[in-house]
Amino acid sequence: MDINRTQPLGILADILIVDDEPNNLRVLSNLLKQQGYKVRAVLSGEMALSAAKLTPPDLILLDIMMPDMDGYQVCHQLKNDSDTCQIPVIFVSAKDQGIDKVKAFAVGGVDYITKPFQVEEVFARMECHLKLNYLQMKLEEQNYHLQAEICQRNAAEKALKEQNEQLRQEIERRQLTEIALQKTNQELARSNADLEQFSAIASHDLRSPLATINGYAQLLQLCGKEQLDDKCNNFVEQILKLCDRTDLLIGELLSYAHLNQAQDPFQLLSCDRLVQQALENLGTEIYQNQAQVTYDPLPEIIGTESQFVQLFQNLIGNAIKYRREDSPRIHLSAVLQDNHYLFSIQDNGIGIEEKYSEHIFQIFKRLHSQDYPGTGIGLATCRKIVERHGGSIWLKSQVAQGSTFYFTVPNKQRVVERQMIAAIASPN
Ligand code: ADP
Repeated sequence: MDINRTQPLGILADILIVDDEPNNLRVLSNLLKQQGYKVRAVLSGEMALSAAKLTPPDLILLDIMMPDMDGYQVCHQLKNDSDTCQIPVIFVSAKDQGIDKVKAFAVGGVDYITKPFQVEEVFARMECHLKLNYLQMKLEEQNYHLQAEICQRNAAEKALKEQNEQLRQEIERRQLTEIALQKTNQELARSNADLEQFSAIASHDLRSPLATINGYAQLLQLCGKEQLDDKCNNFVEQILKLCDRTDLLIGELLSYAHLNQAQDPFQLLSCDRLVQQALENLGTEIYQNQAQVTYDPLPEIIGTESQFVQLFQNLIGNAIKYRREDSPRIHLSAVLQDNHYLFSIQDNGIGIEEKYSEHIFQIFKRLHSQDYPGTGIGLATCRKIVERHGGSIWLKSQVAQGSTFYFTVPNKQRVVERQMIAAIASPN
């Protein structure tokens, strides 16, 4: 009989024999040893309990009739101890001693043998229970692993569900943002259309009566100067001034409204040239204010020429206009950062309180309307131009120290990328 086949981890089965008769012990021990089992033999129940607890054997052959503690009691105690409860116990009894089979199974025995026994039968029964016990241990081990795997899978499933839920919420949030964005875009498009319609009406319906009023006021100034007293002549002058201011306001409003419909194509622009053009346009203001405008070498960018001239002109113009007593000192520079240029226009003017740094980019918002002329459209125009070219604009300022306006413009490569993306998004 090949006993290794049935043993866990391939070791020899360790058998504990318990019998108060030394002769019986010897005979059985020798038989088992000859078969290759590892055998331990003890003479009493007490000894059996401590030997089993110290090193649990693979199987116990337990005599029933013993002084002090009989086999049933030993088995009962073995089964009540977590260290020894797994060990299969086979009862051994002499035929004339009789065996209470029900009791033997009730206290946890797995089998019984009666003496005199047939050696093969003993081995067969032992093999059978060693194998059963081994398989049961294996099963428990597999069960344990299975439980662990189920726990892991449950945890993974829970984590997956949570991630799914987060993803669902994220999608929902994005969808809501998209809907809100679409709504804002629609509102923006509508308000732009309203503004453009208003501008068209304004240009026609307001400009022509304004021109007529202006014409009559000029006539009055020319022809009626002698007939009118000083007070009335002053009134006429006020009318002419107001006509000029209103005409300027209508003109700026119109160009603001039409910024997005610019017909000029995007092209490669030299910022040096754009700034020179803006300075030429501001010649009178520069001269009258003794302003000093300096600039570092500026880069080439891609955009609409007229709009960038207007952007530089508005920012430099404001830097001159919102001056302190010292004559204006203005400096322009640009640096390349990642995929855009950062432009700055620094002045030594009156400055702006930080809390207004967003406010002044809104149309018609002015801070110094009492002391300085203007329409409140300039910076709103600047923001529209910068954003139309894919950049942003902001400022840093200190009251009575000066301001620096910053804006970004994508570099050439970034503009090409943006155009390609736009072309892919709307192939028609
Ligand atoms: P406008 O100059 O016609 O009033 P803008 O839109 O150009 O309109 O500017 C809005 C307001 O921002 C101005 O009325 C002024 O109060 C403030 N502002 C703009 N530029 C400067 C500057 N460089 N220094 C101080 N204040 C400025």
